[in-house]
Amino acid sequence: MLSRRHMVAIGLATASVAVTGTAWAQAYPNKVIRLQVPFAPGGTTDIIARVMSEPLAKTLGQSVVVENKAGGGGVVGATELARSAPDGYVIGMATVSTTAANPAINDKIPYNTLTDFTPIINIAATPNVIAVHPSFPAKDFKAFLAELKKNPGKYTYASSGTGGIGHLQTELFKSLTGVFMTHIPYRGAGPALNDTVGGQVPIIFDNLPSALPFIKSGRLVPLVVAAPQRLAVLPDVPTFKEVGLEAVNRMAYYGLIGPKGLPQDVVDKLSSATKQALADPAVRKRVEDTGSLIIGNTPAEFAAQIKAEYEVYKQVVVKQKLKLD
Ligand code: GLU
Repeated sequence: MLSRRHMVAIGLATASVAVTGTAWAQAYPNKVIRLQVPFAPGGTTDIIARVMSEPLAKTLGQSVVVENKAGGGGVVGATELARSAPDGYVIGMATVSTTAANPAINDKIPYNTLTDFTPIINIAATPNVIAVHPSFPAKDFKAFLAELKKNPGKYTYASSGTGGIGHLQTELFKSLTGVFMTHIPYRGAGPALNDTVGGQVPIIFDNLPSALPFIKSGRLVPLVVAAPQRLAVLPDVPTFKEVGLEAVNRMAYYGLIGPKGLPQDVVDKLSSATKQALADPAVRKRVEDTGSLIIGNTPAEFAAQIKAEYEVYKQVVVKQKLKLD
């Protein structure tokens, strides 16, 4: 028979196991985190997500699995993310297309970019580029513009999707220069690049990280970039500002967001884990080698940035009377 002393001791031991068990069940993260990419593989969103998933997993002590949910210029994936449980196990890549450009031009999208997400951190900003297939009869921006002006409607251009930055910024470019090209939307820059490099579409507006390998290997010719100044990797290519199109000279961004209502401790954990990963020189180099600029801001700063960018695109849409096809 157990003495009373023994029973108390066992009771205490059980209680302490129970307490430990509860604490363990609550500690975040204790299972796989799904990192959603709202575009097809091969685009910049996918590239940044894959560069970050491994160091993030190491810092968080849990696997971070990248999942591509492409379609509708990123809206399909972003809508799914907005409707996910706010528990930190489904987070998503925030892009300028899904959080600013598309919400600005498309009033039918089923989420409110300012209230349906929890911004966590902006990882990186990337320049954008207009590039052409080597068979295109122009090798620099001046000749490109002259060729488009001479042949209204002759050319098509590829983008990562309807309402995305590639679409909106090229429509802005068309509106400011008075040229006409037909838009061919894809499920992300990956498939858009495939067709441009394959020669099915002569022109692409892309974010630099996904286009850069093709530019370096001579399979695409860069004509103009959206960046604060000329890029070290493309020193001969002018910026949109230099060619008198400052409104098109905006970078893209790639950050982390969750559905609205993500608990503060989850936000803090993901934000500090990302900052920690970005402090590692090897990770910094991998991000910077893609042609990106590391940001790593606070959740509040990222929220303010999304709002500001959304306002910029809204003004562009109104001022230039841009509409979805
Ligand atoms: N162009 C998209 C953006 O900047 C990303 C396209 C992609 O990753 O395929 O939001």
